[in-house]
Amino acid sequence: MADQERLVKTLIDLIKIDSPSGEEDAMDLEVSTRLEALGLKVSHDSYNNVIAKLDGQGQPVMLSAHLDTVEPGRGIKPIVDGGVLRSDGSTILGGDCKAGVAIVLEALTAATQSGGGNRAIEVVFTRHEEGGLVGAHNLDFSMISAKTGIVFDGEGPPNRICVSAPSQNVVTARITGRAAHAGLEPEKGISALIIAAEILGRLPLGRIDEETTANIGRMEGGLKRNIVPEQAFLDGEFRSRDNEKLADLERKFRGVFDEVASRYPEAKIALDIVNTYQAYHVDAGSEAVSVIGRALTVMGLEPILESTGGGSDANVFVERGITAIPVGIGVRDFHTTWETAVISEVLLGAQMCERIIRGA
Ligand SMILES: [Zn+2]
Repeated sequence: MADQERLVKTLIDLIKIDSPSGEEDAMDLEVSTRLEALGLKVSHDSYNNVIAKLDGQGQPVMLSAHLDTVEPGRGIKPIVDGGVLRSDGSTILGGDCKAGVAIVLEALTAATQSGGGNRAIEVVFTRHEEGGLVGAHNLDFSMISAKTGIVFDGEGPPNRICVSAPSQNVVTARITGRAAHAGLEPEKGISALIIAAEILGRLPLGRIDEETTANIGRMEGGLKRNIVPEQAFLDGEFRSRDNEKLADLERKFRGVFDEVASRYPEAKIALDIVNTYQAYHVDAGSEAVSVIGRALTVMGLEPILESTGGGSDANVFVERGITAIPVGIGVRDFHTTWETAVISEVLLGAQMCERIIRGA
């Protein structure tokens, strides 16, 4: 049986290991050691994602989470406060996704101890999920045979199941105007910042509709107070669960950039729009949903099927033929310094995962 005390201890131990994206080696060593001690065969692909296998009955089910966290995420001091874990307020908690990793480890511990047999399991702990699903994109799928998976990386309780998620396109633009002395000959300059601002003012941004959003999250430019700014940079993204709306938004974005560019023929605008992940819609009748649903039902919990505006490794897994669904890991307020992990919900996640491993 999943044990709350052991689970919380594991979670705290993992949170104390710094693992900002790109610096996952210490986390990798910790989880690989634990998985090996539980009797799993642990291997790594060329990107050093962790892939571990537990022999058992039937078609394997993939259990996945990611090893990295966002910043500020160094020297995290987890505090148990009532029924929740939180940081001291100077960093994130790192419950995203350490709670997911802890759930999988606790469930494997409980299931392998019980000795009642288990289904075949493939554990996949990816690197560098935050900011681009980089580990998942580089995952060696030839090392994985599961066609059904669960991604322990969602907000809220474990009965929140994300059956639909958007595509994301990343937008970057470098605008080059012309520098000039702002006091002596401003008429010789072309302000890249003004061009960037005009673009920004015309782009469709914010919530476009129920399943479509757009944002420019960063605008940079200029050098000094008395120089007409020669360079400006825009960094943003747009998402939709409907790929036609995504394509339409891309046309609108390109149209705005072209229109503003035509008014500044001497400036240079280098626009780049790249798809980072694809939308997915998992059928409510799929094996992945029913595996999770059966475990929840035994626990007396009602599965809640949701659509999200966020992406996760599941987007890449589905694109590569694994029907993988994110579920809640008991964590609230991802990517903030007030992020919390609700201990009773993390435990429910481990209990659900244990039932899945034992073949519920
Ligand atoms: Zn995450």
